[in-house]
Amino acid sequence: MTEDDIRKRDIFNKYLELSAQDVAVFFKDKSSFVKSNHCLACQSKNIEMAFVKHGFQYDKCQNCGTFFVNPRPTMEMLGQFYADSPSTSFWVKEFFLPVAEVRREKMFKPRAEFIANYFKNQSELIIGDIGAGFGLFLEEYKKIRPQDRVLAIEPSIEMVEICQNKGIEVIPKTIEKVEQQELFNVLVAFELFEHLFNPEFFLTKVFENLKPGGYFIFTTLSGLGFDIQLLWDKSKSVSPPHHLNFFNPESTAILAESVGFKVIEKATPGKLDWNIIEGGLKHENINPGRFWATVSKYGSQKAKGELQNWIQKHNFSSHMRIILQKP
Ligand SMILES: [Zn+2]
Repeated sequence: MTEDDIRKRDIFNKYLELSAQDVAVFFKDKSSFVKSNHCLACQSKNIEMAFVKHGFQYDKCQNCGTFFVNPRPTMEMLGQFYADSPSTSFWVKEFFLPVAEVRREKMFKPRAEFIANYFKNQSELIIGDIGAGFGLFLEEYKKIRPQDRVLAIEPSIEMVEICQNKGIEVIPKTIEKVEQQELFNVLVAFELFEHLFNPEFFLTKVFENLKPGGYFIFTTLSGLGFDIQLLWDKSKSVSPPHHLNFFNPESTAILAESVGFKVIEKATPGKLDWNIIEGGLKHENINPGRFWATVSKYGSQKAKGELQNWIQKHNFSSHMRIILQKP
């Protein structure tokens, strides 16, 4: 899998451009933004401004390395933005849908296989996908484990309809508003955590909705990841107002434990870090520094492959997967 398989470069750039325009409309009034005086992961008050991008300030915790938009738009402002903005509908129509089937094969199917395999020794489960979108994960999962009850937890009216048309049971709201206590054996959330207004509240709600012994498995961006650290504010992953939270394996564990979870796994199984650096260098003139430009020019395929393996193995990929259990 390469970066170009899952997102076409020109379309992605157009999307980022539209997002920047939307920011000027939806987040013009910053007076209601919410400021935190502590780190969202470890609660340390030792936070400092890291950079400003598209008018959003990112603060970095000097204790745990987490960085996050601060002050940040309210949950209502974000909800409005995701419901109504031109960049969001562009994302769905032009960015996601044309490569949906490629994404199904390369991303959703492997995810479903991973999760199904993880619970292969367990009988009937109730599993919920938080932010299920088009329901691709649940469709693929159901093919492997038809005995399980699967639910989409999804607030977007459009997506709710799409999921229902596929025969998927839907809870049509965000997990923050779900009141069903201890229903689920398993909850999953892919690429959602980085968008959240309040990560601690989110994890608390996930905790409440899980049965004792239940699992929460999620993927998100790690701010200590290779491509993000090299490109920093120029990284396309650093894209406000979408990506607000850049936790890392350790800081995510700190927050999860504070909520009551037991951390089962913190890993960065990402495969694209080097590919993102090389793509930016070759196609967009984004310079990652002399050494990495040298590796790109003179390094063998083997060297690059081994580099990516090293990044992944030592938890320095920007694609992070966390497995938590409610005791
Ligand atoms: Zn911290």
